[in-house]
Amino acid sequence: MSYSLTRYLRNRHFERAVITDVCDINQNFRFVSIHSDAFRTCPESRGHKVHFRVNDINLRTYIPIRCNPCLAVADFLLFLPRNGPGSSWATSLAKGDVCQVRVSKPSLNVTQVKGRTVFFGDETSIASAMTLSQSAYAAYEHTYVFEASSLPLAEQMIRHAGLVNSIVVQKRIDRAHLSEVAPLSFASSRDLTLPNWIFTGCKQSIRRLQQQLVHDGIRFTEMIVKPYWTEGEAASA
Ligand SMILES: Cc1cc2nc3c(=O)[nH]c(=O)nc-3n(C[C@H](O)[C@H](O)[C@H](O)COP(=O)(O)OP(=O)(O)OC[C@H]3O[C@@H](n4cnc5c(N)ncnc54)[C@H](O)[C@@H]3O)c2cc1C
Repeated sequence: MSYSLTRYLRNRHFERAVITDVCDINQNFRFVSIHSDAFRTCPESRGHKVHFRVNDINLRTYIPIRCNPCLAVADFLLFLPRNGPGSSWATSLAKGDVCQVRVSKPSLNVTQVKGRTVFFGDETSIASAMTLSQSAYAAYEHTYVFEASSLPLAEQMIRHAGLVNSIVVQKRIDRAHLSEVAPLSFASSRDLTLPNWIFTGCKQSIRRLQQQLVHDGIRFTEMIVKPYWTEGEAASA
C-alpha cells in the first residue's frame, strides 16, 4: 500500500481541531477547550467518546464534560501524570495548537441512568462523573466514590467540579484501600431501592471492588461497567 493511501485511510473520519483555551487546576488536572466542526454533531453532555490523534501512531480517548454543537466547541478535563503518549500530549497542549479528533458513540450514556446511582472511578473518571451530574438525572443525588493517586489534588479538582456527595480515598499499590471503598459504597447504596452502579477507571480496581461488594452481600440490579485503562498496558485507542 502506498504511503499516501495509508495516510489517507488513517486520517479518514478525523477532523481538524484547534485548542482555544487551557486552564490548569493543579499539577494533575487541566481543562482544555477545543473547537472543531466534528463537535457540531456531538450532542450536549451525553458522554460521547472523542478520539484524539496524540502523535503519528497513537489515539487516546477522552469524554467531553460539555459540548456546544452550535459553537462547535467541547471542553475536556484531562488527568496529566501518566507515562504514556496521551499524557505527554495532554501536558504539552497550548492555546492555538492544532490536533485531529473523531467523535464516536457514547461511552457512558447518561440517558441509560434511570435512578440514583453509586458511581466509582478514579482521576480519569471525573469528566464522566461531571457529565452524569449535569444530566437530566442529576436530581437523583448520585454518590461519587473515587480512588486517587494524590488525595489533596483530586479533592481540589472534585470540589472545583462541584461534585457534591463525593468520597475520595487514597489509592494504595496493593489495592488495600478498596476494603475501605467497598463499605463506603455499600453504605451509600443502602437507602436506595434499586440503585444503579457505574464502575469506571482502572480495570483491576473495578474487578477487585466488585468482588468485595459481592462478598459483602451486594446484589447488583442495574450496572454499567466502563474500564478506562488497564494497569501495565498502553491504551489501545
Ligand atoms: C472511554 C474512555 C474515556 C476516557 N475519558 C477520560 C477523560 O475524560 N479524562 C482523562 O484524563 N482520561 C480519560 N480516559 C483515560 C485516558 O484515555 C487514558 O488514561 C489515557 O489514554 C492514558 O494514556 P497514556 O498514553 O498517557 O497512557 P498509556 O500509554 O495508555 O499507558 C501508559 C502506562 O500508564 C499507565 N496508566 C494509564 N493510565 C493511568 C492512570 N490513570 N493512573 C496510573 N497509571 C496509568 C498504564 O497502565 C501504562 O502502564 C478515558 C478512557 C476511555 C477508554
